[in-house]
Amino acid sequence: MRHSFLIKYGEIAIKGDNRKVFEDALTRRIKEAISRVEGDFYVRKRTGRIYVDCGTDGYDEDEVISALTKVFGVVGVCPVWLSEDRGQEGLSEDVIGFIKENYDTFDKTFKVESRRSRKNFPLNSMEINAYIGEKILEEFPGAAVDVHNPGEIINIEIREDIYIYSKVFKGPGGMPVGTAGKATLLLSGGIDSPVAGYMIAKRGASLQAVYFDAPPYTSGRAKEKVIDLAKIVSGYAGEIELKVVNFTDIQMKIYDVCPHDELTIIMRRYMMKIAEHFARENGSLALVTGESVGQVASQTMHSLNATNAVCSLPVYRPLIGFDKNEIVKLSREIGTYETSILPYEDCCTIFVAKHPVTKPRIRDIERSEKLLEGKIESLYEEAIGTVETVRISPHD
Ligand code: ATP
Ligand code: MG
Repeated sequence: MRHSFLIKYGEIAIKGDNRKVFEDALTRRIKEAISRVEGDFYVRKRTGRIYVDCGTDGYDEDEVISALTKVFGVVGVCPVWLSEDRGQEGLSEDVIGFIKENYDTFDKTFKVESRRSRKNFPLNSMEINAYIGEKILEEFPGAAVDVHNPGEIINIEIREDIYIYSKVFKGPGGMPVGTAGKATLLLSGGIDSPVAGYMIAKRGASLQAVYFDAPPYTSGRAKEKVIDLAKIVSGYAGEIELKVVNFTDIQMKIYDVCPHDELTIIMRRYMMKIAEHFARENGSLALVTGESVGQVASQTMHSLNATNAVCSLPVYRPLIGFDKNEIVKLSREIGTYETSILPYEDCCTIFVAKHPVTKPRIRDIERSEKLLEGKIESLYEEAIGTVETVRISPHD
């Protein structure tokens, strides 16, 4: 008996040439994910299916499932028994063995669902269902057949080998990373932006991230926290190049010369401009933020309009319609929450005004920004020139 994992993916939605691109990218992502699990695995693509076969060495099934159910594009992961064709009697022995290994007791309702793609097996699929169903009932007196609403479905597939499986562990769905182009994420240490990055990666984008640091007002630990968040996101999104921009001088200059109630908006506009610079440099097709309408003063529709006005790339805001509690729920699910709530100050909380504008007019903001002319250009160049690049890999 050999063990394998069948990967289910949303194959129906993808047609023609796109299907091959999707499957190839998914296979690559699965290979990467499984390479981080101890053991000997072989990823194989067969007739519209992807399998991860397990070698003879020991491995931890939970770890395999946890790695594979993080891969975008995967809809479900089924641990499979693979056996050779030993006729119908052999098949029934294998199915009974499978049930004994996977269930402590089997007093459940069930249904056998078989598919015969190799036609020289002696029974057709209807006959297999009936025959194996009988055998299960004989072996497990507490079990009962229920074809309409079964507690368990015992799947049998007669291919070149015979596949037996019943459990499906849910994957995240979405599109494999690498099928949608690059995006540049403005990643802070907060709750929202890591979730936003996760969501855009789930649609197939690969990520670059930009973090605006403000030493010595923010501590080294604030930066470490962002690196840790980027690592968690890279567990889903693959490698991320994180640009750490020293934003202190720009922030100080804005603080010195601009009206304090407009500080956040003007700061955000500079962040967007710098992020767009790095986005263009690496060929990103969009910027991504964790903003959501109305969450804070800088995220009213008026404020978002003012921040958006400095960019020419599209700005994707996957959380735009989410309430905070919905975002928190997601961040718990993906595992970023505990890190996000660590109490290190970020640059926005330090320079925040008591009564920020909530309905900024772009004209007014531009007038205030005129006060920076001749003073900020060199700081802007310096911030870009002194950027520190950290390569974040899920392997670290
Ligand atoms: P988050 O939880 O993502 O920090 P937030 O609710 O604190 O969001 P803001 O501080 O207004 O909201 O930031 C809005 C968005 O701007 C963030 O989601 C993030 O994309 C970006 N952003 C804010 N501060 C920074 C920073 N220091 N570095 C990089 N991006 C930032
Ligand atoms: Mg924040």
